[in-house]
Amino acid sequence: MIMRTNIKRVFGLLMMMMVISIASNAQAKKTVYILATGGTIAGQGATEVTAGYKAGAITVDELLSAVPEIKDIANIKAEQVANIGSQDMNDQVWLKLSKRVNELLNQDADAIVITHGTDTQEETAYFLNLTVKSDKPVILVGSMRPSTAISADGPRNIYNAVATAVAPESVGKGVTVVMDDKILGADDLAKTNTLSVGTFQNPNYGPLGIVYNGKPIYTRQSLKRHTINSEFDVTNLSELPRVEIILSYSNATSLFVDAAVKAHVKGIVTAGVGNGNLTTDLQNALEKAVKNHGIAVVRSSRIMTGPTAQWDEINDDQLGFSASWFNNPYRSRVLLMLALTKTKDYKEIQRMFSEY
Ligand code: ASP
Repeated sequence: MIMRTNIKRVFGLLMMMMVISIASNAQAKKTVYILATGGTIAGQGATEVTAGYKAGAITVDELLSAVPEIKDIANIKAEQVANIGSQDMNDQVWLKLSKRVNELLNQDADAIVITHGTDTQEETAYFLNLTVKSDKPVILVGSMRPSTAISADGPRNIYNAVATAVAPESVGKGVTVVMDDKILGADDLAKTNTLSVGTFQNPNYGPLGIVYNGKPIYTRQSLKRHTINSEFDVTNLSELPRVEIILSYSNATSLFVDAAVKAHVKGIVTAGVGNGNLTTDLQNALEKAVKNHGIAVVRSSRIMTGPTAQWDEINDDQLGFSASWFNNPYRSRVLLMLALTKTKDYKEIQRMFSEY
């Protein structure tokens, strides 16, 4: 009789412990919002083996059904912000995304994962790196193969992104991209291969870390200003200043500078040769754009690595230009758009390019 009562007690205690542990596990899980914007990761091919496919064809819920495992490590909430190929990414989606990310991080989100096409992922990542006002993890993820392909890379990348998002060590790292088992910083992100699943690199600084067995391992962190240390704020903006990129090459003329001036752009970023050098024609036209039309000019380079340094072969102060340092033309365009929401002064813009 006594033994039976004891067994009952022990059983009751065990049941209670199980209920408490399930409840505390559910509580311990962090809330991760997955914001979907389209891209190949949401792409659908005609067959499992051919190359042709349509980006941004499936919804966020269909996308996440391929990785049910993420529900074991986080409370997942999903929202469809857009469903486009990222070649069509634009200022309006950027502003919407940045505002929504800030809103959610102020509410119940512990972290955000954004699914995004790879074509312009580096630009969106950098825009968010400069406009998100939180140190909670914000991670972009894409894939190089559509969801219908054999060995689709999307599900693994999404799992790794969520696993990285819930790890405490991911706080304060700025906006990152998690793909191909790597964690990459937005301050030096480049798509380096048109087809490979390992396309993204941090070509100047090296990756922030790797994801191994579903856990992030960080090996460096960014010393550039970002997120909570950024001076840029798009909360009250409904549009961004227009900035175009103009390439230099043998025989490049003033043609596109003239067109940009006519279109009343606010800024021009150059993708120069070597250390941001320009043909004489181009340089003269840009000098006039600065002096006669008040257009901000930032010199960057078409070379993938190394800084576009000030005062090398070009006297930036004399021309009223700023130099991009380690920002390639695409990130430079993003930074100049944000810089122009605050100032037109080339020296102040130069300071920003040295700090971000
Ligand atoms: N065109 C696609 C996109 O950027 C390519 C990709 O996602 O890999 O949306």
